[in-house]
Amino acid sequence: MSEQTPGSGHLVDGPHDPELDPRAAYVLERDYVASLTERLVASTGETDAVSSPVGGRPLAHVPQSSVADVDEAFARARKAQAAWAQTSIDVRAAALLRLHDILLDRQEELIDLIIWESGKARKDAYLEVAHLALTARYYARTAHQHLDTTRVAGMFPVLTRAEVNRVPKGVVGIISPWNYPLTMALCDGIPAVLAGNAVVAKPDAQTTLTALLAARLLEEAGVPREVWQVVAGPGPEVGGALVERADYICFTGSTGTGRLIAKGCAERLIGCSLELGGKNPMLVLRDADVQRAAEGAVRAVFANAGQLCVSMERLFVADQVYDRFVDAFVSRTQAMTLGASLDWSVDMGSLISQSQLDTVTAHVEDAVSKGARVLTGGKPRPDLGPFVFEPTILEGVTAEMKCFGNETFGPVVSLYRFHDENEAVERANDGLYGLNASVWTRDGTRGRALARRIKCGTVNVNEAYGATFGSLGAPMGGMRESGVGRRQGAEGILRYTETQSVGTQRLVPIAPMFGISEERHAKLMTSSLRLLNKLGRA
Ligand code: NAD
Repeated sequence: MSEQTPGSGHLVDGPHDPELDPRAAYVLERDYVASLTERLVASTGETDAVSSPVGGRPLAHVPQSSVADVDEAFARARKAQAAWAQTSIDVRAAALLRLHDILLDRQEELIDLIIWESGKARKDAYLEVAHLALTARYYARTAHQHLDTTRVAGMFPVLTRAEVNRVPKGVVGIISPWNYPLTMALCDGIPAVLAGNAVVAKPDAQTTLTALLAARLLEEAGVPREVWQVVAGPGPEVGGALVERADYICFTGSTGTGRLIAKGCAERLIGCSLELGGKNPMLVLRDADVQRAAEGAVRAVFANAGQLCVSMERLFVADQVYDRFVDAFVSRTQAMTLGASLDWSVDMGSLISQSQLDTVTAHVEDAVSKGARVLTGGKPRPDLGPFVFEPTILEGVTAEMKCFGNETFGPVVSLYRFHDENEAVERANDGLYGLNASVWTRDGTRGRALARRIKCGTVNVNEAYGATFGSLGAPMGGMRESGVGRRQGAEGILRYTETQSVGTQRLVPIAPMFGISEERHAKLMTSSLRLLNKLGRA
């Protein structure tokens, strides 16, 4: 009856739960699920049934929140935030350093749960843990650099003192998608709490349990439970309620929903950051190391079964290396192991849901019906898992096909040949998006120069996305319809603060004194401005 997992042993076939579904053998132990869902602010008595893409079996019935529950979550968060903001930066940073270690210590439990909810390959789930640990450590170690009050030059040296404070916004609403259940649940919240904010989080319905486990680990690390509230429910209703109540919104998801969120935030005059979709281009230049580029393309395109905002869906290859590159890329792709499984043997995991499978299948069928050629892949693989789709390489994709300019968000890439680099850059910049790009060349300087001409928030030279995504000091986000604002780096934390300038004037006012007339005062002021300019001050 019980199925041993590679991980913690927490997550084995649990007892049947007759109250929920008498026919089903639940994949997760009921007590384990309950210990997570009790963290939700959810009092409607309604639940949402969630199944696993690994085998399609039931995972849990997740309690649902009402708008009144969202009110309650905000009330608790506001109260907790006032006290949390009074703690020192060192106290908050220390909690994040503990979180770093807890994430690494508990990685098996986290990875298992991520896989049960998302169906991804174990290596992709591990990268979530690693990225989050890196995020916690980066912000903990740079907390003072970002958050300390800084002195700036006052209007008059000695007489005017000016400083800039970073004040927390208050309660931040975080709305996250399903594709990286752990990273997306927590990576944007880490800088928010470090800056002294509280959070109300609404994860995607498919991946609520991982988000709840993340919240539990945050509490174990020392962030008070009330500082991090989690609600669950339909996006428009519960996510919309966050937009109506938060002091700032951090949204990750589709461009269509991002547009709605932006309108809601504009209405309330609150800030938001929007991490949205992409149709990311990879350029293989004529001087690229073809074997390395082909190996890189496999990761660039098929990591997380293509359900990765920064993965590549358009591949532009120089004429001179096209045939060699395509041979190497196709053969490496065909050697990949596929499946929906908890063990390390899988190179590419499952798609997360029927709806993702439908979109991917529709894009490929549409392209093929309009004349595209399938070099490898092209089909669902129900024999390997309910939502597994083969890694697919297309040639001959044209503008009237769905997958030409629309995000597929699956393991499908279109190959294009180019003759001239200027033309390649122009085609890479075509379309509405501008999230991530990748350039392959033996000449790093040339690669970086080309990068400046590509309209994307991140560009990776001789890498797919990891060189920027893993460098936490480097901001990450989209240009054009791929987003507004940035996560990571200084921008990733300063978005959660209000900038407050405090000026202190000493000894003399910035006004005429000792009975001096306004005219005389203006002359004196002009002389001192000239003097300061000569001295190179202010
Ligand atoms: P989605 O927009 O459908 O949903 C994202 C989240 O928004 C979910 O939690 C959902 O419940 C909620 N939501 C839906 N409608 C809402 C509304 N009207 N008001 C408030 N909240 C609402 O996106 P998805 O399909 O879950 O995610 C896939 C998309 O996310 C892809 O386009 C992908 O490129 C993008 N993504 C971007 C990044 C990035 O960093 N740029 C990262 C991951 C995913």
